[in-house]
Formats: sequence, structure tokens, C-alpha cells
Amino acid sequence: MKEFVCIRCPLGCALTAEEKDGEVIVTGNSCPRGREYAVAEMTDPVRTFSVSVRVKGGERGAVALRVSVPVNKKFIAPIAEQARHTVLTAPVRAGDTVIKNAASSGADLIAVASVARE
Ligand code: SF4
Repeated sequence: MKEFVCIRCPLGCALTAEEKDGEVIVTGNSCPRGREYAVAEMTDPVRTFSVSVRVKGGERGAVALRVSVPVNKKFIAPIAEQARHTVLTAPVRAGDTVIKNAASSGADLIAVASVARE
């Protein structure tokens, strides 16, 4: 059995979920969204997140990138590792896709800000 706090609304219901006979049984939810959340956390937990990468020749030395789509949380560490070894060259424009299919996750990394040449 796993315990979660539902983050789909500010109420923050305490959920429990367990798999029985191939079905996820959820308790503690006050509405159907809580069940959806718990089932997703049990079967395919995804996250939307940002990483920072270095930029050379720019007015700033780093820029944040966000994933283009939510990705399974098992890809967070590999994507962060890829970002740690990436150095972009200015200029970088907000909205640019700077890494395609990051860590083979299926998500691209998109610049969230612009960095002009220094
Ligand atoms: S289960 Fe429903 S009411 Fe409870 S926190 Fe989740 S979305 Fe909100």
C-alpha cells in the first residue's frame, strides 16, 4: 500500500492506494480527481520540471530549460545529468528547443528565457 497527498486541489486529501488483482484501489479521495491522481502515481508517475544549463558568451552564464511534456519521474535524474554536461552558446531565445528527446525521454528541453550575447 502507498500513501499520497493529492495535489490536484488545495484540499490535499490523504490518499492510500494499493494494487489488487490488477486493479488500483484508492481510498481517502473526496472526488474522482483524487483517484485519477493516485492511479497515475501508481502506474505512470509523471512530472513537469526545469533544469539549468550553462551558457557561454552570454550576458548571463546559465539559462533554465523546461520539459516540453510531462515525463515519467524516472527520467528526472538522467535529464538533469544531460543538462549538467550541456553548454549552450549565446544567443539563446526563449522558446527555443535546445535539446531534443532529452535522455531518450521523449521530451524536448525548451529555453524559458533569452540570453543575449555579451
Ligand atoms: S481528492 Fe479531490 S478534493 Fe481531494 S485533494 Fe484531490 S482533487 Fe481535491
